Amino acid sequence: MPEGHGEPNKKYMAELKALCMKCRDANNKPTMQVMKDPKVTKNEKGRYSAKGQCSQCGGNMFKFMSEADAKTLM
Ligand SMILES: [Zn+2]
Repeated sequence: MPEGHGEPNKKYMAELKALCMKCRDANNKPTMQVMKDPKVTKNEKGRYSAKGQCSQCGGNMFKFMSEADAKTLM
């Protein structure tokens, strides 16, 4: 019988991951890292994007977002 595993994994903000150009794997490819402190912006074409810092190296990160994803962060 399973017991006590009923607690949902609640997060107030979705964890946003983006490719970090500085955190490279053994093949020298950029890796997906968690974006810290993402800020969502909308450009003049109505395109959403997020800017933040890599949680691993602190480098700047940038990612295009869908409108639906962007709104979960706003
Ligand atoms: Zn990084």
